[in-house]
Amino acid sequence: MIQITMPLNFLGTVYREIRQALVDMGEMFGLLEQPSEVQDAQDAAPLVVRGGRVELRDVYFGYDPARPILRGISISVAEGESVALVGPSGSGKSTIGRLLFRFYDVDDGAILIDGQDVRAVTQESLHAQIGVVPQDTVLFNDTIRYNIAYGRPDASDAEVRAAAAAAKIDRFIETLPEGYETAVGERGLKLSGGEKQRVGIARTLLKDPPILLLDEATSALDTETEQEIQSELRAMSQGRTVLMIAHRLSTVVDADRIVVLENGRVVEEGTHEALLARGERYASLWTRQQADEDAA
Ligand code: ADP
Ligand code: MG
Repeated sequence: MIQITMPLNFLGTVYREIRQALVDMGEMFGLLEQPSEVQDAQDAAPLVVRGGRVELRDVYFGYDPARPILRGISISVAEGESVALVGPSGSGKSTIGRLLFRFYDVDDGAILIDGQDVRAVTQESLHAQIGVVPQDTVLFNDTIRYNIAYGRPDASDAEVRAAAAAAKIDRFIETLPEGYETAVGERGLKLSGGEKQRVGIARTLLKDPPILLLDEATSALDTETEQEIQSELRAMSQGRTVLMIAHRLSTVVDADRIVVLENGRVVEEGTHEALLARGERYASLWTRQQADEDAA
């Protein structure tokens, strides 16, 4: 008996691990679109996060050496600060997220978290400290409980419920015939875009990372749902270091600081009010978006 069940249990564990890796990947694909190309350094140490300060120091990067994407970017996000990255599509915002996650290595310069170069720490420890909410949260064909808890499979029922409540998806789940055991995903109950993002928020709350990367987390939603979800994202951002990539500028108005990227460089930086008062790049992006919204 033991000889049969042990390998089966072992296979079960391996299967679960593989599946977990695939979800991690799936989530990355939404945000990062590429699997990791880098390997841990031989003497890689676990990342030790004290406050969660993120620093890009004069970063140069291109997917193709002939076509530089980031050309000397310096951005620092203090412990607990929320910084928004804005700029035209293709300006390299998501690329910065991929580099922070170390899906690629910088060509020059460095990225540090609490003073530790991301190239010097284990990828596992790095990924454990950064919570990602991409544009579309990937759901598995499994129960809604599994989907919320997958980042921390040891979470108790009470913890899963508390995360769901904080993400304001608990009432919805309780209306389902099978509650938290309801199967969701492609082969189960299909959730709306807003519900999926709430599952993503609950998942991230359970993971409880000190650093958050929000990559257009609400840009696929209608404006009303966007506003609702924004309030949960704001609550989740309290006490964490946040790098927020935004398409609609109306969602970054409250950021501690806004960094405007153009052609691989930081062209402006400041609060919404300060940047509007400057009357340059950000102000013209803002005016253009307001006009588009009025037209729509
Ligand atoms: P943003 O998020 O600001 O819209 P990205 O960081 O996604 O921009 O992309 C910046 C530039 O890098 C774009 O020109 C894009 O086409 C290019 N790019 C993105 N991913 C890859 C890739 N895997 N290989 C080659 N070029 C890429
Ligand atoms: Mg992007």
